[in-house]
Formats: sequence, C-alpha cells, structure tokens
Amino acid sequence: MTFREALLKGQAPDRGLYLPQTIPTVSADELARFAHSSYADIAYTVTRKFLHSEIPDAELRAIVDDAYNFPVPLEHVTAGHYVMRLDQGPTASFKDFAARMMGRVMQYFLKQDNQQLLILTATSGDTGSAIANAFYGLDNIRVLILFPVAEVTERQRKQMTTLQKNIRVLGLDGKFDDCQALVKQAFADRELARLNLSSANSINIGRLLPQMIYYFYAYAQLCRVENGEEIIFAVPSGNFGDVMGGLLAQAMGLPVKKFVVATNANDAFPTFLQTGRYEKIAPSRNCLSSAMNVGHPSNVARVIALYGGHMDEQGNIRQMPDLARLRQTIYAVGISDELTKATMQAVYETHHVLLEPHGAVAWAGLQQYVQEVPPAAAQICVALETAHPAKFAHEMQTIIGVDPALPPSLEGLEGLPETFRPISSAYAEFKQYLDANY
Ligand SMILES: *Cc1c(COP(=O)(O)O)cnc(C)c1O
Repeated sequence: MTFREALLKGQAPDRGLYLPQTIPTVSADELARFAHSSYADIAYTVTRKFLHSEIPDAELRAIVDDAYNFPVPLEHVTAGHYVMRLDQGPTASFKDFAARMMGRVMQYFLKQDNQQLLILTATSGDTGSAIANAFYGLDNIRVLILFPVAEVTERQRKQMTTLQKNIRVLGLDGKFDDCQALVKQAFADRELARLNLSSANSINIGRLLPQMIYYFYAYAQLCRVENGEEIIFAVPSGNFGDVMGGLLAQAMGLPVKKFVVATNANDAFPTFLQTGRYEKIAPSRNCLSSAMNVGHPSNVARVIALYGGHMDEQGNIRQMPDLARLRQTIYAVGISDELTKATMQAVYETHHVLLEPHGAVAWAGLQQYVQEVPPAAAQICVALETAHPAKFAHEMQTIIGVDPALPPSLEGLEGLPETFRPISSAYAEFKQYLDANY
C-alpha cells in the first residue's frame, strides 16, 4: 500500500493500523547538519525519506514551509532540563504540528486526481479545533466535526464554530463517546460510500510522520551527535501518537537514551510495562489532564508492533513484544491529579515556569525518573509541553493563582459569530444530515 492510500483511508480494511514497512535512517552527518537547520528544513529532510517517491521535492518543500511558520521554543528550566513548548501553533496545542502537515499533504494528493474528501471527526475539544484550523480553506476537502455540547470549553467551541467555509460543526446532545459512535457507524455504513469519508484522528499514519520532527529539532538544538550525546524526552501521553512519533524518530537513528512516557491515572501502559499484563481501563478515568483521558490508547498497538509483538483491536496481546528492549527504551509512569497540581505549583514557585496540566504530567514523570535513575550531570532532558497554559485558564487560576496571557492566535475569538447545528445522538438524524448536506 502506498503512503497516499494509507493516508486517505486512515484505517486498514481489517481495522488494523498502518505502519511503514521499512524505516529509513538519518545519518550522523545529517544529524550534525540539523544543528544549523530551521524547523521546516528538518521536517523536509526527514519526511522526504518516506515520501520522495510520492510527492515531488518542490511540493513537499512548499508544504512544510507553509505548515511550520511558528516558533518551537526550548525553555531552559534548570541544569540540563528543558521544556519544549509545542503550543505556539494556531490552536495552541501540539496537535497543530500533525494536523497542518496532514491537511496539506491530503490536499496535494486529492488535487492530483480531482477527488473530494469528507473528513468526519469526533472531538472532545483539542483535536477538533486543530483539524478545523489546519484544514480551513483547503481545496478538495470538507470537514464535519461532532462535539459534545456540554463537554467542551467555550474557547474550544469557538475555535471550531467561528471558521465556516469548508468547516461544518455539529453540537451533540450527548457525550464524546456518542460522537465517536456516530462517526464509526457512518464509516461502516455502505450507503454513505459515495461521500468518500475519511478520518483525521490520531490513528492516521499522516499524523505520525510530522510528530517525529520536533524530537529531531530538540536534539539538534541541544545536543551534539559528534560528542556521542544522547537525549531524554518526557512525553505526556494519552492516545500515544506523540510518543509513537518519538519512537519512530529513534528508529530512524535519533540518539535517544530514554522516553519517559507519563500518563495520568489512565495507566494501562505503565502497568503493562511493569507486569507484562495489559488491561485497558474502562471506562476511562476523568483527570485534570483531560486530553489524556484514554483508557485504551490506540497507538499502543503500534508501539507493541515496533517491538516485535502483536496486539489486536480489543487490546489483547496475541504476541508479546520484546519487553526487555521496551523497558530499556521506555520508562512509563502514571501521575495522579494530586501530583500534577503539586508539580504545577512547584515548577512555578521554584523556576517561574508555567505548565498546564498535560505538561506538568510530563515534568512530574521526568522528575520521578531522574530520582530513580540519576543521570550524569551533563544529561539533557526535554519535557514536552503540549498545550498553552492559557487554554487551561481556569486550572491555572485555581491551582497556582495565575491568569496566563492569551497567545495572539487565541485572541479575538469572543466577538466572532458562531455557527453550529445542534443534533441528537440518534444515528438516523445524523445520517439524514449527511444526506441533505453532502
Ligand atoms: C492530545 C493531547 C495529548 C496526548 O497526546 P497523544 O498523542 O494522544 O498521546 C497531550 N496533551 C494535549 C494537550 C493533547 O491535546
């Protein structure tokens, strides 16, 4: 299967997840050159290794230049420890990195043979706004987003409902799970085949490639391959797409000493790494780091496959991965809400650094790891901050008493007119809407 097919399909016909058949490598010379490269340069060089036979160089170059037009700050916190702020994109969440490139690559392929695609996305907030913003105004692609009216913040809602053009939004009277159920049923509905439905959720291979790049970028900014340096990343994890990007980067040759995978109380993976037994958490636990409330992360199946194992769709392990090698690469830990709050406070009081709950989970995981396995003094460690603190203004206010300034991208939403259509969670009503509008 080509990348193009995997990208546009999203999920394999047997409901499995796509992975590259072979993983190309990045040489030490290339890594050394990245020290003097821009973010877009690195994105071009790395993704080209996967895409060169399907996208002409000039097109790919234009796509990455257009997608990555915002900074990626590495904020120094304390001796060798940094926070990488992946929150400077247009929706102030790290999901912008994947969504912006995926949308542009999809557009390139669709334009080639003048195809139309309808992206259906269920969201609990952040994914919907990142997809809506990234696909806004693209040709050949229409986007329909379903969100649970009572479960998203006003700002998250406005990030989706104030765009219009090729973006339409349905506000569901129900829960996120109901939105997801409607989307799944539509994908399985043969009578809707003419709509050419696709998904942009985190199982799409098109999201994983762009999520490798910031790992290369952080290494290039902070470490020297000539000196044999290795880096440690701490990744706040929900559906494990972010850390899967990191693992692919490592498989390409990025010298990573350890991935600290930090979850909230949805700790099925940390427990698996410890005990060798995987049990999904159902229903998922509601935690402060709400974008990581995932009881059975889809991309764990990919992590297990990368280490020689096989997990089926239900989360049963059919073949054990190489646990010893997994444990060597990954340190996994579940962080409680109490520790998340205490970490937000401590990091602010001690270092004057603002972390919202997801970034705090990563930071707390990193602290736990360095306490257990004290690294050399010169060790570089980078914790990923995946959302802007202003997106969690209420939490910042009640936990540390600070009201973070809005980034420019989130300013001015208040005054814009909103358009969305209320809908029940009945499939018949949803289908009728699709038939009438597309
Ligand atoms: C989606 C999200 C995560 C989790 O990323 P995964 O790739 O699902 O592990 C973490 N933080 C924020 C703010 C997110 O929106």
